[in-house]
This record gives sequence, structure tokens and C-alpha cells, in this order.
Amino acid sequence: MGAFHANDIDYDYLFKVVLIGDSGVGKSNLLLRFSENEFNLESKSNIRVEHAICSIVVDDKIIKGQMWDTAGKERYRAITRAYYRGAVGALIVYDITRSITFENVQRWLKELRDQTDQNIVIMLVGNKMDQADLRSVQTEDAKTFAERENINLFMETSALNTLNVNKAFTKVLTQIYHVVSKKKD
Ligand code: GDP
Ligand code: MG
Repeated sequence: MGAFHANDIDYDYLFKVVLIGDSGVGKSNLLLRFSENEFNLESKSNIRVEHAICSIVVDDKIIKGQMWDTAGKERYRAITRAYYRGAVGALIVYDITRSITFENVQRWLKELRDQTDQNIVIMLVGNKMDQADLRSVQTEDAKTFAERENINLFMETSALNTLNVNKAFTKVLTQIYHVVSKKKD
């Protein structure tokens, strides 16, 4: 038997979750908010979070989420296969104030489905809901789209004022847990 470090065994499940969506929609800030409760206002230079590990507890099980951020590579649509490999969950993020980022969800969804297992848990996330005056994507339209595409989770968030951020990530991890534990029975 090899030696175990406490860190290797202090969880029951480890799930890889990827964030995708157009540049500037707030992916890195959502992750920063969730993992460290921070927010970055710099509008020009993209912050480059790469991974964050977070833990939640469901049914007395410790679930670790290994959350992957594109770290700016989505600007050139240069997301590698390795980015998607092994992902069991995904958040596809758009900006409710920029319709184009919502229209592009279709392309992200296709790329995601081409690269991952069909059981992957997907949440559609409309971020920047604090900017209600600038809204150009209606909640109902996003919901309808999600239903039509068999995306069963949808949420609007604000990384700026923390709205629904923890809820979104927690929901995705919990849903993955349900899918995985059901498969084991
Ligand atoms: P990414 O390219 O998808 O990773 O987006 P970033 O997290 O780098 O955010 C892009 C810009 O949007 C930055 O200027 C952020 O400060 C801003 N931003 C991110 N989330 C929100 C939000 O929820 N509300 C508002 N008002 N701005 C946000
Ligand atoms: Mg980013």
C-alpha cells in the first residue's frame, strides 16, 4: 500500500465541472465569487482564474468540485479537448445585457455535447442580472431555449452582487451527485 495524504481521502466524490461561454460574460468572476467571495471590476483585462476546488456536503457525503475556467482562451475559440475531457458538469454562461452572447450559447452547447458524455449535467446561466436596465435577453426566452435543448437547469446570476452564485454551483454539483449515485444502484 502506498502512503495516503489526508487530502487524498477526505472526500467521497470528485467532479470536474467546466465553465464555457463567450468572453466577457463573467465566467471568471462567477468562479472567483464562488470560491473566494471576491469580485474584480477591471473591465478590459480579463482575470485568469484557471481552476478552483470547492466542497459541498450532500447526504453526509463530501463532494468536491473541480471547477475549470477557460482562462481567456475562449476569445480565440481555442478550447482544447483536454479542457472538456472527463467533465461531468458544465455551466454555459451568457450575459443578459448582450444578446450575441446568448445566441452563441448554441455553438457552445454543440461543442460541449460533441466533446463530453451524454449524461453531463448542464446549467444555462444568464449572468449580470444586476444590470436590469440594460437587459436584452428575456428570462422566458432563455427558459424556452433551455427546455427545447434539454438543458434541465437554468439560473440567472450576478457575480457583482453575489445573487444566485453559490446556488448555481451547488445545484450543478448536487445534480451530478444524484446522476452518479443513481447509476450505482
Ligand atoms: P469572462 O471573460 O467570462 O471570464 O468574464 P469576466 O469574469 O472576466 O468578466 C468580464 C467583465 O464583466 C468584467 O469587467 C467584470 O467585472 C464584469 N462582470 C462579471 N460579472 C458581472 C456581473 O454579475 N455584473 C456586472 N455588472 N458585471 C460583471
Ligand atoms: Mg475569464
